[in-house]
Amino acid sequence: MIIQEKAKILANLKIIDKYYKVVLFSSQIAKGIQPGQFVMIRVTETTEPLLRRPFSIHRVKRKKIEILYEVVGRGTKILSEKRPGEYLDILGPLGNGFDINLKSGEQKPKILLVAGGIGVAPLLFLAEQLIIHTLRPSAILLGAKTKRQILCEKEFKELGLDVKISTDDGSKGFKGKVTDLLRDFLSTANTQQRVTIYTCGPRKMFREISLISKEHKASIFGSLGEYLGCGVGACLGCVVKTKRGFKRVCKEGPVFDIDEIV
Ligand SMILES: Cc1cc2nc3c(=O)[nH]c(=O)nc-3n(C[C@H](O)[C@H](O)[C@H](O)COP(=O)(O)OP(=O)(O)OC[C@H]3O[C@@H](n4cnc5c(N)ncnc54)[C@H](O)[C@@H]3O)c2cc1C
Repeated sequence: MIIQEKAKILANLKIIDKYYKVVLFSSQIAKGIQPGQFVMIRVTETTEPLLRRPFSIHRVKRKKIEILYEVVGRGTKILSEKRPGEYLDILGPLGNGFDINLKSGEQKPKILLVAGGIGVAPLLFLAEQLIIHTLRPSAILLGAKTKRQILCEKEFKELGLDVKISTDDGSKGFKGKVTDLLRDFLSTANTQQRVTIYTCGPRKMFREISLISKEHKASIFGSLGEYLGCGVGACLGCVVKTKRGFKRVCKEGPVFDIDEIV
């Protein structure tokens, strides 16, 4: 059931540069939300901007929802100026998140998480849930342009995960793309185990991960960050072509088997 709720802002913190974290008190939506699902936030009481903006759930702590976001335009700028005590009109839980349930008789896979930039946002909640389901990821690969833009390293380490970092400029970790780091990681992993990759980041990254995963016969599930209109499946503004026809990112996604995307 989709719920509309006025959520009180408990904190809205600048993490670094244009990255922020807003913490909301949500008595209802927080209850049943799954990793990879999202909420649509109305950032203003006026009609400017008119549309709600979609955000993944970064973390849930009882009735608190955390959202990690990057300021890229009008909506996120307005969001970054909100103060504790103000309220946000939110709609959720929306979409289909990451499926972390093993089918009966299925062996546990080796799990890797791969984040490109702000794509890290839904992966912390996912990592926590995987651990609860005894599916601890083998590693999280965090990629960003520079060292300053590496987010959540500490949080993943606190979960006891092996954190691998890549930066385009080599200011921290592996110098290059996170996809190159993934290729390296898989080539040296020497595993007979089936590999499942959960990922979020730019579209271009998915294309590369898809090629790499084919070489290693890995499954790959990614959260698509397309432009959304309504967020509830009505406007068809976010359809993507898949091997099984057109699918709405906001309704059938945002998480897809990336090999299904045409
Ligand atoms: C399911 C889903 C989950 C998301 N989760 C997060 C999240 O957890 N954290 C986060 O920071 N962002 C997330 N996004 C992206 C976020 O919704 C957009 O960045 C936001 O809507 C931009 O609003 P704006 O008004 O600031 O930008 P606008 O003024 O609308 O646009 C400013 C610039 O950003 C670009 N832009 C806008 N929307 C997108 C988009 N969806 N993808 C790529 N470029 C875009 C525009 O081309 C333009 O250049 C998510 C998107 C989806 C679909």
